[in-house]
Amino acid sequence: NTSLHELDPDIAAAVDAELKRQQSTLEMIASENFAPVAVMEAQGSVLTNKYAEGYPGRRYYGGCEHVDVAEQIAIDRVKELFGAEYANVQPHSGASANQAALFAIASPGDTILGLDLAHGGHLTHGMRLNFSGKQFNVVPYHVDDAGLVDMAEVERLAKEHRPKVIIAGWSAYPRHLDFAEFRRIADEVEALLWVDMAHFAGLVAAGLHPNPVPFADVVTSTTHKTLGGPRGGIILSRDKAFAKKLNSAVFPGFQGGPLEHVIAAKAVSFKVAASLEFKERQEHTIEGARILAERLTSADAREAGVNVLSGGTDVHLVLVDLRDSELDGQQAEDRLHEVGITVNRNAVPNDPRPPMVTSGLRIGTPALATRGFDAEDFREVADVIAEALKPSYDASALKARVTALAEKHPLYPAL
Ligand code: PLP
Repeated sequence: NTSLHELDPDIAAAVDAELKRQQSTLEMIASENFAPVAVMEAQGSVLTNKYAEGYPGRRYYGGCEHVDVAEQIAIDRVKELFGAEYANVQPHSGASANQAALFAIASPGDTILGLDLAHGGHLTHGMRLNFSGKQFNVVPYHVDDAGLVDMAEVERLAKEHRPKVIIAGWSAYPRHLDFAEFRRIADEVEALLWVDMAHFAGLVAAGLHPNPVPFADVVTSTTHKTLGGPRGGIILSRDKAFAKKLNSAVFPGFQGGPLEHVIAAKAVSFKVAASLEFKERQEHTIEGARILAERLTSADAREAGVNVLSGGTDVHLVLVDLRDSELDGQQAEDRLHEVGITVNRNAVPNDPRPPMVTSGLRIGTPALATRGFDAEDFREVADVIAEALKPSYDASALKARVTALAEKHPLYPAL
């Protein structure tokens, strides 16, 4: 019964310091969020002790009667949330979900079509050093000069290469994808369509973004980005056509025992995601991103060489283009860090700078919306960011404005 502070003060100190960092700064990494205390409670529960290889009702271990209940609730809730006939809630992460999904519907050596990493795609969509790039024949598609996915190129490449799988989904893209058009192209070349909605799943759950489930053969997601749950992955499908293959790709294909404590936490987050409060939060998320995009396309931002890719956003993030700025991505990230705002630098399409430097930023609003930020707060944050990216800026004045916002919206006050 020894507490963490007593047993391991070194780790306790790191955890405490991280809590303080989250409380005192503004988190604007687009893939991050703040899980509710109830989610963390489930994740920190005794369910961590249980082995449960298999699926509810079909386990290879005894004593699974209670974890069966939790996992079945998670499955039922996520199916309901997204209108899916099939769900697997066991993937340990988004990358694990993607690995299982791809191996369930394709075989090594098959051709896959995915959005180029440098144009906003994810590692698991065919990056050279990832399993997807090493074991599959990858044909990347791109965004056009306006920053939009080039559907004419997708169609042309699909007809030329006849891929087994077309992947729709992104890690850095500010607009909706046209799932119906992806489906049409996939059907035309008899490919399967896999949508990775890791980034925008929360917006879909709230009904504020098109739902890919009716269009895709397989849909994967993380549970910790806009969805706001514990760190983890899920696989969904509109029907049961691939149910057996997907289940056996997850277990025993790539994983052993599922993390039942995380699965219970996923169940809690799916309950939250079905609530009116969650929908309002997602509305604030999108509104905040729009406010940020407007501020960063205003005359004085442009004068500082700051632009926004695609001219705006439909989702929870803004891609800032710094090619005309005297700051590169690394310097801009450091500046915002200096005033208490955490973002990540991000390559822009055809970036002239190397990947460790880049000429852009990816700025997201989910975590601040979870913290309770409304339009007025986002206007203030947007102004602080625009000021910080100007050639001359007053770091301490901007930091004071950040601190005032952080104090206005206390995070985890009971922790
Ligand atoms: N898919 C997309 C589109 C992502 O953006 C990410 C994470 O950034 C993942 C999958 C991978 O998720 P994880 O980091 O949980 O493996």
